[in-house]
Amino acid sequence: MNATPAADTQGAKEAEVRTGGCLCGRIRFTAQGPAVFPHTCECDHCQKLGGTPVMWWVGFKTITWTGEGGEPTWYETFPGEAKRGFCPTCGSRVAAIDSDIPEIGINVTALNDTSGEDLVPIHASFHDNAVRWLPSVAQTAPSATG
Ligand SMILES: [Zn+2]
Ligand SMILES: [Zn+2]
Repeated sequence: MNATPAADTQGAKEAEVRTGGCLCGRIRFTAQGPAVFPHTCECDHCQKLGGTPVMWWVGFKTITWTGEGGEPTWYETFPGEAKRGFCPTCGSRVAAIDSDIPEIGINVTALNDTSGEDLVPIHASFHDNAVRWLPSVAQTAPSATG
């Protein structure tokens, strides 16, 4: 087998379109562009908002809201700096926008297909806030944002 040239691989990822949405289906989206910095997060906000010890994030350059509910409802976790989007009907967490990050954050669990190798977390943010019984993901990259 021949290795695929890197340029071709990158081009294929650029063109890839993924779909996702909330549990009830009112919030739907398409995501375009390569998956950027897939990571888990165990910060206070993710734990409280997610109702879970850890959330799983990835960034995309372009998100188009396609469902009947339009955009998610945004809750500003840091007013003017960061907000998280959820479905007002079913409560599913789907997205995040941070003013210092160019991509739109997507909860990987909102994607219809979460099996991609490029979605495997490469970093565990705020792991010092993790519950003690949950092992960390294998970190292969430093934080992009500190
Ligand atoms: Zn919903
Ligand atoms: Zn977090």
